[in-house]
Amino acid sequence: MDNCIFCKIANGEIPSATLYEDEDFRVILDVNPAAKGHALILPKAHAANIFELPDDKLQKAALLAKKVAAKLKDGLNCDGVNVLQNNGSAAGQTVYHFHMHLIPRREGDNLGLLWKPGKLTDEDRLDILEHCSL
Ligand code: AMP
Ligand code: ZN
Repeated sequence: MDNCIFCKIANGEIPSATLYEDEDFRVILDVNPAAKGHALILPKAHAANIFELPDDKLQKAALLAKKVAAKLKDGLNCDGVNVLQNNGSAAGQTVYHFHMHLIPRREGDNLGLLWKPGKLTDEDRLDILEHCSL
């Protein structure tokens, strides 16, 4: 992908603050962090989103997220970590190269990353169970 900034960062063509690198991934600091230590896991091979990412890479990304989250929690002595991943503009994706966000959290930091809980209606439950059961 010639014009993908995360391809260039992941493959070292653009310098980044790198916490970890292996043959498949680079973990960098987000330039506009939601909190101190906000990191991004980037696969080196381009995939726009979770649907395009090969299963073996997704498995590795999940295990890497666990390791990086633990290191951030220890290293920054924070209280928790959000692991987030957006697919599509409606879901908040702005860079169309798969990435996982790791966001260190502190009690009472009020980052506002979470949703306002709604109510599961009977109609929605039936509709979802009919159309989305695997
Ligand atoms: P998303 O909205 O899930 O697509 O997240 C994109 C993230 O990439 C945002 O948190 C941005 O701050 C971050 N970002 C964009 N460009 C760069 C860059 N050049 N280096 C590091 N992080 C970036
Ligand atoms: Zn890319």
